[in-house]
Order: sequence, then C-alpha cells, then structure tokens
Amino acid sequence: MTHLAGGAFQYGHYSIQRCAICGKALVKYDLRCLAVPAGEKNNGPGYWQVGSLVEQDGNRTSLIGELAEDFKAEDLPPDFCLWELDLESAE
Ligand SMILES: [Zn+2]
Repeated sequence: MTHLAGGAFQYGHYSIQRCAICGKALVKYDLRCLAVPAGEKNNGPGYWQVGSLVEQDGNRTSLIGELAEDFKAEDLPPDFCLWELDLESAE
C-alpha cells in the first residue's frame, strides 16, 4: 500500500514519522539504538521528505514519487491508502 509521508515527531528517545492520511507509521526509531559507524558524524535518523509517496510492502518501504501541489486524482497510485479510508466517518 502507498502512503503520504507526514511530518516526523520526536519525543524522548523515540522518533516516528506517520502517513499524513491514515496515520500508519512509516518510520520508527528508538534513538538509543541508532548506530553510527566509527569515524562518521551522527546526522540523526533518516526520514521521508514530507509529501513523498511511500510504498510499504511487508518490511520493504520505497519511494515511488512525490505529491505535486497540482496533483490530479488519476496521478495517485491505485493502492493509495486514501482510497481505503472512509472519509464520511473519518474524524
Ligand atoms: Zn496512509
């Protein structure tokens, strides 16, 4: 299923980035467990750019594109999570 990357949120030693549409976690980190190779600078955890279309398939997550400001419904992937959402009852 494809999701739309929302903003990342960090609290304490946890960090999470969720889908802006359905709220599914796209990235989760326990910052205590983040390893940095010896001799390299710690640039912090990586996130999807906000507005990225991110496909999740089991444990595989990949970037399939970005949502343009003037996107059209027919540009959106057929497995986009928005299509699964019941907008009438969404709160
Ligand atoms: Zn989603």
